[in-house]
Amino acid sequence: MQELTIIGGGLAGCEAAYQAAKRGARVRLFEMRPKTPTKIHQTDDLAELVCSNSLKSNTLDKASGLLKWEMRRLDSLIIAAADASSVPAGSALAVDRRKFAAFITSRLKNHPNIEIEREEIESVPDSPTIVASGPLTSEKLAASIQETLGGGFLNFFDAVAPIVDADSLDFETLFLASRYDKGDAAYWNSALSEAKYDELRDALVSAEKTESHNDEDVPYFESCMPIEEMATRGRLTMRFGPLRGAGLTDPKTDRWPFAAVQLRAENAEATMFNLVGFQTRLKWGEQTRVLRLIPGLQNVEIVRFGVIHKNIFLNSPSVLKPTFGSQMREDLFFAGQLTGVEGYVESAAAGLMAGINAARAWNDQEPLVFPRETVLGSLAHYITNADAKHFQPMNSNWALLPPIEPPAGRKKWKKEEKAPLYVQRGQEALENFLKAEG
Ligand SMILES: Cc1cc2nc3c(=O)[nH]c(=O)nc-3n(C[C@H](O)[C@H](O)[C@H](O)COP(=O)(O)OP(=O)(O)OC[C@H]3O[C@@H](n4cnc5c(N)ncnc54)[C@H](O)[C@@H]3O)c2cc1C
Repeated sequence: MQELTIIGGGLAGCEAAYQAAKRGARVRLFEMRPKTPTKIHQTDDLAELVCSNSLKSNTLDKASGLLKWEMRRLDSLIIAAADASSVPAGSALAVDRRKFAAFITSRLKNHPNIEIEREEIESVPDSPTIVASGPLTSEKLAASIQETLGGGFLNFFDAVAPIVDADSLDFETLFLASRYDKGDAAYWNSALSEAKYDELRDALVSAEKTESHNDEDVPYFESCMPIEEMATRGRLTMRFGPLRGAGLTDPKTDRWPFAAVQLRAENAEATMFNLVGFQTRLKWGEQTRVLRLIPGLQNVEIVRFGVIHKNIFLNSPSVLKPTFGSQMREDLFFAGQLTGVEGYVESAAAGLMAGINAARAWNDQEPLVFPRETVLGSLAHYITNADAKHFQPMNSNWALLPPIEPPAGRKKWKKEEKAPLYVQRGQEALENFLKAEG
């Protein structure tokens, strides 16, 4: 039997390798770093988290929480690594990124069915393959994918938030709290008065930005919009987004501030912090100047500057099946952000489904299409059924799942009623599906 080639040792490629290998496939996993770097990755690690260290909600009131439950049920390597390397982050699952990557590397290195090669693959092989080369796929491989599939790549801009040195923060001014006291008090917060908020907004709007080309042609993905772009959209846009003060009681006033900037620990030792929602394309000198306007950050030192870059993904509705197999070749699969799912966990989820199905092909079994009632199945459904002309990457969210109608006489569910219903239905659907599949 020919071995299974997996291109890309990111979140999707590592999860796919693990899932395929545990089902008996012989896997060769190719990662081009460190020989061929990308513009964004900073380390040689497999499964490097390129920006935030948060894998989002870990509770079952959010679709991303249900997705994690489903992935745990399917023995996901990425979620196991996150659980083993978690740092306090309220109701979110955030990780120490080096420990996270080390856990994954060691599990894959020690697997008898997996070989890891540090090499760039320049063209799509003619043998069984999963392409999981991510939004920063090397140019030669991207050209080869284009040629193989005939369908176009789409692109947009993505932005990375700055990471700052904990020793440069003034913890007397900041206060520790999680929004609405959910989970542990895991975020350090800077309270902004109305005047301070306006000063910060003016500075963001007028600060110098890095040059970028084709901005008008390429839309920002809304949840990764640069903070200065948000500031430009309207006076209160940031206050209704990442800078909202609601739910954050400042112990100095016993009230919610007008607005707030949140900092989340970047590693287990909390020696670095990530500025929540502060993705930016400001020039590096400007980033320091502007962040120093924030109370508690007056002496801030940035250890990793925010950047902006192009992000590519396939026009999946016209080239992929909900099995993550390609429409043109039975033995060619795609996984990860490249397929138009958006986010760390979603990318790993796509790797999980592609890995399972590539192994099933290896074992001469029919591929699986996960039930629509699960977040896994809904992501697969979305990327293959969305409008191909306007296709955009998507995070997990309840709107992707088939709606559960509210009782007669009511237009919609209350927020707290809705999640438990979707969760129960999704969990049952997955259990029944797994039982039926043996
Ligand atoms: C700048 C940026 C910031 C992001 N921030 C976040 C965030 O904060 N939170 C979030 O949830 N999501 C974020 N995302 C989206 C997404 O979750 C990540 O991109 C995620 O890493 C995607 O996982 P992946 O496995 O598909 O790709 P990657 O993790 O990028 O893995 C792909 C791997 O393939 C390798 N590779 C590429 N070409 C080749 C080749 N030809 N041969 C061999 N190896 C190759 C790369 O070196 C890389 O290691 C961000 C994306 C970008 C680009």
